[in-house]
Amino acid sequence: MAQCEGKTRKRERCKRDAKDGSAFCSIHVEQEVRTRREASGEWDTDAIMKAALGFAIVGAIFLFRFRR
Ligand SMILES: [Zn+2]
Repeated sequence: MAQCEGKTRKRERCKRDAKDGSAFCSIHVEQEVRTRREASGEWDTDAIMKAALGFAIVGAIFLFRFRR
């Protein structure tokens, strides 16, 4: 089994064994998702949802204001 490629809080290499089919242990799987997202340049869906919600609220306010 390979060593986990994750980093600890002290910026040290994780000493745990990586899970099968992964380069990270169960604690550092989140780091794997993050690095993949950064590498592929994928959109952060959470940020998109928040932006869409913000636009919807602003749009609703404008709609009510200009109705009167
Ligand atoms: Zn780890």
